[in-house]
Amino acid sequence: MSLSTSVNAPLIHSRIQAIREQIPKHVEMMAVSKGYSVDHIRAAYQAGIRHFGESRVQEAAQKQAQLQDLPDIVWHLIGHLQTNKVKPALKQFAWIDSVDSLRLAKLLNQKAWELRVSPKLCLQVKLAPDPNKFGWSVSDLLQSLPQLDQLLQVQIVGLMTILPLGLDSETTLSLFRKLAELADHIQRSGYQHLQLQTLSMGMSDDYPLAVAAGSTLIRLGRSLFADAELE
Ligand SMILES: *Cc1c(COP(=O)(O)O)cnc(C)c1O
Repeated sequence: MSLSTSVNAPLIHSRIQAIREQIPKHVEMMAVSKGYSVDHIRAAYQAGIRHFGESRVQEAAQKQAQLQDLPDIVWHLIGHLQTNKVKPALKQFAWIDSVDSLRLAKLLNQKAWELRVSPKLCLQVKLAPDPNKFGWSVSDLLQSLPQLDQLLQVQIVGLMTILPLGLDSETTLSLFRKLAELADHIQRSGYQHLQLQTLSMGMSDDYPLAVAAGSTLIRLGRSLFADAELE
């Protein structure tokens, strides 16, 4: 991937517009720009997108350096965060949507305090066995909640999930519903600080089902950006 390319901005605009018309107003659309250039990001920005997701701290840093004229972009880290990159991640991202362990959550809380930032975090839940995906199992998450509720420097605002590839739509829908029910259950459990109003679920192939199950934040890469590069 080169950082700067020529892109078909009208194509990206019309894709964004078409998806907006399909989803309720309260559902936020994140453009996942990993693997795409700053010109893809600018095209989506011009179409009104403000939330952008990147998987890697370093790749994001290179793009962010070239996008300083767009200070109202809200950057989300959506990939696994190694503990040695917590500090740069906190400097670069307002949201970390892929918090996948108690150890990472505690470290984020500590470093956020040192940096005097208060990031929004989503807890990544693994709803079906998937050897390639990080995330909490439901039972581990439930056990960790009392400790997560003590992390006062960070704002734990939601749950995130990535489903395994190749599920049929019935299974997909039922897993998305399971995440929504889990968030609901946690909300009713009376924690002081945890406020799980964000449900980050749904990607290019499955966002209509995620929205049907109550997603509040869909994460779209290919459906906005695939094949939008000009020769
Ligand atoms: C890449 C990625 C996406 C976007 O996937 P598409 O299928 O291209 O829409 C969404 N979420 C996460 C966590 C990703 O890594």
